[in-house]
Amino acid sequence: IDFGYQKVPVAEKQQRVAEVFHSVAARYDLMNDLMSMGIHRLWKRFTIELSGVRKGHSVLDIAGGTGDLTTLFSKLVGPQGNVVLADINASMLQVGRDRLLDRGVADNIEFVQANAECLPFPDNHFDCVSIAFGLRNVTNKQAALESMLRVLKPGGRLLVLEFSKPTNPLLSKLYDQYSFSALPFMGRMVTQDADSYRYLAESIRMHPDQQTLAGMMTEAGYEQVKYHNFTGGIVALHRGIKP
Ligand code: SAM
Repeated sequence: IDFGYQKVPVAEKQQRVAEVFHSVAARYDLMNDLMSMGIHRLWKRFTIELSGVRKGHSVLDIAGGTGDLTTLFSKLVGPQGNVVLADINASMLQVGRDRLLDRGVADNIEFVQANAECLPFPDNHFDCVSIAFGLRNVTNKQAALESMLRVLKPGGRLLVLEFSKPTNPLLSKLYDQYSFSALPFMGRMVTQDADSYRYLAESIRMHPDQQTLAGMMTEAGYEQVKYHNFTGGIVALHRGIKP
């Protein structure tokens, strides 16, 4: 695995991802707001609007963390529908569960610890699967795309919201500077953990760009693969349909 600065074996990557999210879980929401200046909320709202999810639908939010998308989906599907908030990391899941229970929105939500690469759900089960800011942390992305395809119903949608490549070279330069200097600095101030945020910046740089990810989704078996750039391509939403 190439993190940009050093080669790290696969098992070590999984271990590092686990440590990063364990370490930042408690301050994760605050950091999200600070780092994106609140814009991540808009990216998530757009995702919901483009999801096609309706009342009564069944949704899986994998790598769901503290449950931002899950909360929005839960309102959309209503009491006849249901949402599964799944994450590989017990600390993130715990923070998400407490937060959703506090808000009283957990009635139609289930919490499951699961790895996106080998999902523990039946075939053809969900109307929609979402993975927001999670795919870049997954070791075997192709396996995850295939596993998500398996659990979708025919006609169901996969939504991948993820950091991507800015389309404008000037924005790209500014963004690189921001992520490699401001991010670790903020990380150190808020979570006392600059390393985790250095890892975040590296993982963003290594993640496949818009076209590459669209190609990987097509290769996994999705049809009508499309993407929308948000904020000049800093983030992209990919959508694919299960045939
Ligand atoms: N979706 C949430 C959001 O948008 O705020 C959380 C995103 S957080 C940056 C990434 C999440 O991916 C973490 O909670 C982490 O534990 C989870 N994750 C990493 N690798 C995973 C895997 N293989 N399967 C499931 N979840 C994973």
